[in-house]
Amino acid sequence: MPEKPLLVLGTGNKKKAVELAVLFEPIGLHLATLADMPDAIEVIEDGETFAENSRKKAVEQARHLHRWVLGEDSGLAVDVLKGAPGVYSARYSGPDATDESNNRKLLEALEGQANQRRAAKYVCHMAISDPQGNIVAESEAACRGRILTEPLGTHGFGYDPLFEVLEYHRSFGQIGPTAKACLSHRARAARRLVPMLVELVDSGRWQ
Ligand code: IMP
Repeated sequence: MPEKPLLVLGTGNKKKAVELAVLFEPIGLHLATLADMPDAIEVIEDGETFAENSRKKAVEQARHLHRWVLGEDSGLAVDVLKGAPGVYSARYSGPDATDESNNRKLLEALEGQANQRRAAKYVCHMAISDPQGNIVAESEAACRGRILTEPLGTHGFGYDPLFEVLEYHRSFGQIGPTAKACLSHRARAARRLVPMLVELVDSGRWQ
């Protein structure tokens, strides 16, 4: 029986890689993360949009590894902060940022804002590159919510304890991985990408 096609999940964020693996597992591809690829490079995220960064992560890693790679870039955009922290979500509070310091800075930036002025969305862009560096499929999706005034729950990562999901009235920190795998920006972008991936595999282009 031929080996399953391999897809490299091109992120160095371990918690993100776990979420991506859960979302793409059902397609029946063989999944690897950058932790499984000793030769992986670190791609510099210097794009101005999620789309630019996600394409760059896919294309540069794919050319380097000679593999099919999924690039993913995501972050939080707060309406009243004019879309910040946006593509700078991971480094919002500086070069040595941690989830805690980012969350603290976000709470400070929104101090005194009433509930109706705390609307936000998570955005996720995904791009698939073939081993030659051609983008062959991409998708983008958002998940809307509101920034709480204090962290709630311990699930997830990043801004999850502060992000109340619109449909659930609970934070991603509270609702846990199963519901997050249905509702998140990453889940929504993956659902759009999966039919394109299936078509690519069926076309026989992906060996
Ligand atoms: P990236 O690795 O440059 O895409 O960084 C994305 C950053 O956006 C993360 O470090 C988090 O701060 C934030 N982020 C993206 N997706 C999520 C999520 O699902 N939950 C919480 N924070 C997220």
